[in-house]
Amino acid sequence: MKLLITRPLPAPVLAKAHDVFDVTIRDNTAPLSRDEMIQSLAEYDIVLPTLGDLYNTEVFAAAPNPRTKLLANFGVGYNHIDVTAAHAAGIEVTNTPGAVTDATADIAMMLMLMTCRRAGEGERMVRAGNWEGWHPTQLLGLHMSGKTLGVVGMGRIGQAIGQRAHFGFGMEVKFYNRSAKEVPFPATQIDVLTDLASSVDLLVIAVPGGAETRHMIDATVMNAMQPHAHLVNIARGDVVKEDDLIAALSDGKIAGAGLDVYEFEPKVPQALVGMENVTLLPHLGTAALEVRTAMGLMAVDNAIAFANQTPLPNAV
Ligand code: NAP
Repeated sequence: MKLLITRPLPAPVLAKAHDVFDVTIRDNTAPLSRDEMIQSLAEYDIVLPTLGDLYNTEVFAAAPNPRTKLLANFGVGYNHIDVTAAHAAGIEVTNTPGAVTDATADIAMMLMLMTCRRAGEGERMVRAGNWEGWHPTQLLGLHMSGKTLGVVGMGRIGQAIGQRAHFGFGMEVKFYNRSAKEVPFPATQIDVLTDLASSVDLLVIAVPGGAETRHMIDATVMNAMQPHAHLVNIARGDVVKEDDLIAALSDGKIAGAGLDVYEFEPKVPQALVGMENVTLLPHLGTAALEVRTAMGLMAVDNAIAFANQTPLPNAV
């Protein structure tokens, strides 16, 4: 079977793929163009795409009777693939849940600490040669230990964040989630998003992207937050309405933000770049070699299951 891997991946992943498939590795780190996506559906049995490869309705419509029967996505988030349109075209879709959980929760904790404790601002001060030495009222931030965390989307990553916050930092954990959820640590589910927003010191976003959650965090939610509270987004950029975030920060409705993802990624608004109280990371959630290797091996396992006509381990 012919397998297209749309970006360079760690060596063990490629080796495993080569053992089973006739593999083409696209030697380009940018997302596929529309023409490349249409061509991929015509020429390959399986495509292993990732973030930014926008397999939307229009792409599937432009590739009738596709040769491709599986999109084995590299990543747990698959909002760049129109799964309904893929299924209608006879194409199955898989993802890589679990492999990403701890690494992404770790990045959330890092952003929580960085924004609360003004780490980016402090580092910029040192690098610019502007640090004149320690003094008792310098760069005073929000003490995170013991504070209240709100998690929006209490799934695998949301729970991993809650666990770290509760057991590691003695935080009280509250959450908002689509369905009722029991979690294995003390946490209170709140049914109204603005009620959660108004009662926490840190609000962390961990829902999947897509039409259902687009702009879920808008002015209404941010205006409900307390002025000393911080917003952290490790989910997908367009879950947060970026214009409203800029306004909330400019107007002092919230104290700061830590962002790993952006509404129009990789474009980051100059307004955010110019704010000292915003921590900006370049979508680092899963950026560790062993994690990216585990994700790739999981995607290849799905491709192998497909080739062997056995049930797909991670169908979506
Ligand atoms: P997950 O286990 O499916 O958890 C998602 C949670 O969000 C579920 O508990 C779900 O509720 C809840 N949810 C979904 N839609 C909702 C809505 N409209 N309102 C409220 N809650 C809603 O997924 P995960 O593995 O934790 O991953 C979450 C997302 O993180 C991924 O989809 C991906 O986009 C993002 N991510 C980002 C990075 C990064 O590099 N920054 C890395 C990995 C993942 P139910 O219980 O009702 O299903």
